[in-house]
Amino acid sequence: METKQFIFSPLEAREREREWRIVRRSVDARQRDIRVLLTVLTDDHGQPLDKDAPIPLYEPPMFQEVHNAAHSVPIIGAGPAGLFAALTLLEHGIKPIVYERGKDVSARKRDITRLQRGEGLNQESNYCFGEGGAGTFSDGKLFSRSKKRGDMQRIMELFHYFGAPDTVLYETHAHIGSDSLPAIVKAMRECILSHGGEIHFDTYIDRWDNTTPTLLCIGHSAHDTYRILHKAGVAMEPKGCAMGVRVEHPQALINRLFYHLDRQPLKEQQALVNALGNAAYSLVTQVDGRGVYSFCMCPGGHIVPAPSSERSTVVNGMSTHSRSSAYANSGIVVEQHPTGSALQALEWQEQLETEAWLQAHPDGHNTLIATAPAQRLKDFVEGKTSTDLPPCSYLPGIIPSRLDQWLPQEIGPYLRQGFIDFDKKHRGFLTNDAVIVGVESRSSSPVRIVRDRVTMQSLTRPNLYPAGEGAGYAGGITSSALDGRNAALQICSRVQHNS
Ligand SMILES: Cc1cc2nc3c(=O)[nH]c(=O)nc-3n(C[C@H](O)[C@H](O)[C@H](O)COP(=O)(O)OP(=O)(O)OC[C@H]3O[C@@H](n4cnc5c(N)ncnc54)[C@H](O)[C@@H]3O)c2cc1C
Repeated sequence: METKQFIFSPLEAREREREWRIVRRSVDARQRDIRVLLTVLTDDHGQPLDKDAPIPLYEPPMFQEVHNAAHSVPIIGAGPAGLFAALTLLEHGIKPIVYERGKDVSARKRDITRLQRGEGLNQESNYCFGEGGAGTFSDGKLFSRSKKRGDMQRIMELFHYFGAPDTVLYETHAHIGSDSLPAIVKAMRECILSHGGEIHFDTYIDRWDNTTPTLLCIGHSAHDTYRILHKAGVAMEPKGCAMGVRVEHPQALINRLFYHLDRQPLKEQQALVNALGNAAYSLVTQVDGRGVYSFCMCPGGHIVPAPSSERSTVVNGMSTHSRSSAYANSGIVVEQHPTGSALQALEWQEQLETEAWLQAHPDGHNTLIATAPAQRLKDFVEGKTSTDLPPCSYLPGIIPSRLDQWLPQEIGPYLRQGFIDFDKKHRGFLTNDAVIVGVESRSSSPVRIVRDRVTMQSLTRPNLYPAGEGAGYAGGITSSALDGRNAALQICSRVQHNS
């Protein structure tokens, strides 16, 4: 089948999307004249095919019945890496047995609501732990910097198969939304169970059988499990990561800056936002040899509390599918190069999260409430106290704090210069209508579980297959899912070779 590229205005593109079979869509909003690039399937005469043309979108997966399978494989963790590993085993007739410390999505949702309401943190069921892993209640951005598009496309197809919208098949910056993700995760669970796989919730794994191939998909927040692995002699090393804060602006301001609305005719401004959705941004600069960049930007989203242990403050971001809140938030993080041992790298991260908690709980009371320390953005850059704070999407509440004074030297000054640089490119970004909230400390893992490049087995525990973000070889939903799938494929070929 042939494809053809078209460049349209946002409004025209929206019309064509309703009619044609799109295979790729990207938006170029760098100039005032915003353009949408559509790649479409065409017939033999170069004519775009109808959206409903009777051509399959992709080859559907073939899951096998594994109730009585000859082989089974334990999987520790039911995040994207663990779930996609389980689905891959199912495709190859191997029974997945998944162990997840947290609860199923519905019970987990209730624990998250309790945390947001100030009724305390459940250390096993929160934004990081539970069915679907860290990405379940997120913006659900499904893209990755990985170049392995072929394999990545299969991950998108599987998400679509389990209920994600058509856009995940062709949108360069596809997203699902925190309101749709739980149903997709539930559909994956039902598929695994109905074909004979097992999933055990509320099951914390602290030992495993060294003689059986085991997939270790624990994510990067399970510090306790990292420590157990370290004690058991599983080789780990510190790795580069990034830490900082979340910044939140009014979404209207971000739309104005990044869609150049001041230079668009007044009557067309709202139509443009309607056609494109609320604006996202991606910012990057270098400050004294360190990268400072935006991370996991959530247009029309919310800042959320994402700690997994007591007396610790961690923030992250999410949006629903419509991305329709009045706020735009993003992590702004600074490259870090932890030195020393892997455990020291974890401790460094924990110290930052504890400091943020102490700043937000100065009297040590109200430990149930997940308040977070915050400062107006311009005050942060100018080194001033924020006597009050602007409205913010963070439900547990923010309290004024001098982040400019207590953020470590490896973070604070770099962020400050980073914000100045961003404002030079996008005048108005640096404003006291924006607020920074601390701390964004879990954008990626500070440690790596060392594994063989080809077989993907731990170098010191050959039957252990560390995969996903916690292993230190992936970052984000799609690349973690792909890494879990690839590790499972390694086990499948080993099993097939031996039988
Ligand atoms: C609020 C939020 C928003 C995010 N938004 C996005 C986004 O929009 N796009 C994106 O690409 N990424 C996003 N991320 C990051 C993304 O969720 C992670 O990169 C991804 O989930 C990593 O997948 P994983 O399977 O490797 O690990 P995880 O998703 O962390 O899953 C690991 C699982 O293992 C379980 N586990 C850990 N230890 C044990 C044990 N000892 N025994 C049993 N179970 C255990 C945990 O409970 C967890 O469920 C977001 C993260 C958060 C917290």
